[in-house]
Amino acid sequence: VIMMGQAEHSKITTCAYCGVGCSFKAEMKGNEVVRMVPHKDGKANHGHSCVKGRFAWGYATHKDRITKPMIRSKITDPWREVSWDEALTYAASEFRRIQAKHGKDSIGGITSSRCTNEETYLVQKLVRAAFGNNNVDTCARVCHSPTGYGLKQTLGESAGTQTFDSVMQSDVIMIIGANPASGHPVFASQMKRRLRQGAKLIVVDPRTTEMVKSPHVEADYHLKLRPGTNVAVVTALAHVILSEGLEQVDFIAERCDRQSYADWKAFVLRPDNSPEAMEAITGIPAAEMRGAARLFATAGNGAIYYGLGVTEHAQGSTTVIGIANLAMATGNVGREGVGVNPLRGQNNVQGACDMGSFPHELPGYRHISDSIARAQFEQAWGVTLAAEPGLRIPNMFDAAMDGSFMGLYCEGEDIVQSDPNTQHVTAALSNMECIVVQDIFLNETAKYAHVFLPGSSFLEKDGTFTNAERRISRVRKVMPAKAGLSDWEVTIALAKALGYEMPYKHPSEIMDEIAALTPTFHGVSYAKLEKLGSIQWPCNDAAPDGTPIMHIDEFVRGKGKFINTQYIATDEKVTQKYPLILTTGRILSQYNVGAQTRRTENVEWHSEDRLEIHPHDAEDRGIREDDWVGIESRAGQTVLRATVTERVQPGVVYTTFHFPESGANVITTDNSDWATNCPEYKVTAVQVMPVAQP
Ligand code: SF4
Repeated sequence: VIMMGQAEHSKITTCAYCGVGCSFKAEMKGNEVVRMVPHKDGKANHGHSCVKGRFAWGYATHKDRITKPMIRSKITDPWREVSWDEALTYAASEFRRIQAKHGKDSIGGITSSRCTNEETYLVQKLVRAAFGNNNVDTCARVCHSPTGYGLKQTLGESAGTQTFDSVMQSDVIMIIGANPASGHPVFASQMKRRLRQGAKLIVVDPRTTEMVKSPHVEADYHLKLRPGTNVAVVTALAHVILSEGLEQVDFIAERCDRQSYADWKAFVLRPDNSPEAMEAITGIPAAEMRGAARLFATAGNGAIYYGLGVTEHAQGSTTVIGIANLAMATGNVGREGVGVNPLRGQNNVQGACDMGSFPHELPGYRHISDSIARAQFEQAWGVTLAAEPGLRIPNMFDAAMDGSFMGLYCEGEDIVQSDPNTQHVTAALSNMECIVVQDIFLNETAKYAHVFLPGSSFLEKDGTFTNAERRISRVRKVMPAKAGLSDWEVTIALAKALGYEMPYKHPSEIMDEIAALTPTFHGVSYAKLEKLGSIQWPCNDAAPDGTPIMHIDEFVRGKGKFINTQYIATDEKVTQKYPLILTTGRILSQYNVGAQTRRTENVEWHSEDRLEIHPHDAEDRGIREDDWVGIESRAGQTVLRATVTERVQPGVVYTTFHFPESGANVITTDNSDWATNCPEYKVTAVQVMPVAQP
């Protein structure tokens, strides 16, 4: 797979896996990729890559690829291959039939962070302009929607503040709820280089990850919290900083909202927010929280990096707010080496959010109720837009159960495998009258679909991805679309079948429209991307070449706003029946639901999801290494093999969700973040017992 012959020509493109967004040279022989070589001029990766981007692209030509549109009247019928025209006409007629029967708001669309910016923009445009409602959502709902909410409220922009290179100026790095060694490997290598140069490291994680202790890394503090208590930790850290006078008084006075700071200070200094009071909640010795807070506040440039271990909680948005509070209180915003840095899981999570694929926001994070913003889009699109926010993904499932949401267009997202409480998801899908799935493989969601539209891999289309540092990079078509149409062309054809014309001839024209309608993208064009290689938004008259570091002179919202972070225990309680907490994550060689990496040689490195369990909990239950174990939660049950390890703490078990048969999301529950409905994947009360091999 690595060397399939001599290259004849090459194109520069962007990795389609994680939010680092590494730049690659795709070396080609005819229409076949020979190998992927990390691009030395790539500003996110500087010539480096990981095992996913470099070796795991073979899925694009895997025999499981579906290359013909298919339809069926009932999900129990066999699929029937049809022409593009027949499939799109059928899908459009079904959507219109459902709207005539159940109302205009009875259908909607889900787009994906796997899609390009241009594709995502088209899906939300299709829903708003052709469906006539705001029922559009993205898989960012289930990962970083709390980031969008929390950073917008506090700093004024729903995005990370830095470049990756900024970490080389950090004196102390705090990683909260993330394991970049597995999830963002190229950036983790850069971070480790800085740590070897002497930067200090604080890790807040319930598990002993590679970033806590490995041959190249040893954290100065590992705050090994109980899952679900992030808010208690960040509030206790703030308590130490304020009670010991370690805050940056001048920065706060000049840059932050005075009243909000006064209110927050009074809240944080309450005795019940001290590390000593929080010790019983978090499970972390108070002295460790005190030491970590002092280190972060006094070591110089302090940078915070966080991941889904922060966002996928009932208080995900509150923790994001708490992280922003910590950064502002210590003056760690607005220059190199500092900042608030969400590590986005997928290649285009940032872009999917930027492009208006949330039911309440138009492109550029403008609320749908903003009549001035709406009027701009109405004029450009020639329609009248609905002013009320539409349904979020979990609301779509609930509405399907009561018969008011009956048709779904789902592009590039396997909601059956990736969303929580699988039983609820499949029951909702079974209730719908028409589901249109657009994907490169017959994924788990396609089992419930009536129309399958074959998608195109990242090698088969032009477009752009936006990585975790707001960097917009080109995706270049290096081989013909296997199904004849690229994804952006399919959405345009579906809109046309619905009677709405989107007359673009190339994704560059879609980007021109995005730039015209989105203030933070006003200066972006394919010509400029060609010239600069990549651009970090905001890119406009004020910053014609983009913005590497945000909030330098003032916050996007003007004054930074402190918001109180009251810890509230999750409803997901451990009991005698469910005495352990299950938390979930990823491993290096696999990627998310594994649809791609399972179809590459990477599968040999990790061929199954396993349950990590602490030796004490294993011994209590008579579980040994490699034993099969049954895992039961309030939502469901599944069976995995056990790995007995001290990486997890007593009372906590851990698994990944890369294989559909492991059923990790059969056991996760419907609990979700209070502000955004991001699922609480990271906390599920379970019982684990040995079982016979299934
Ligand atoms: Fe791709 Fe992420 Fe690996 Fe870079 S670090 S090669 S973007 S998976």
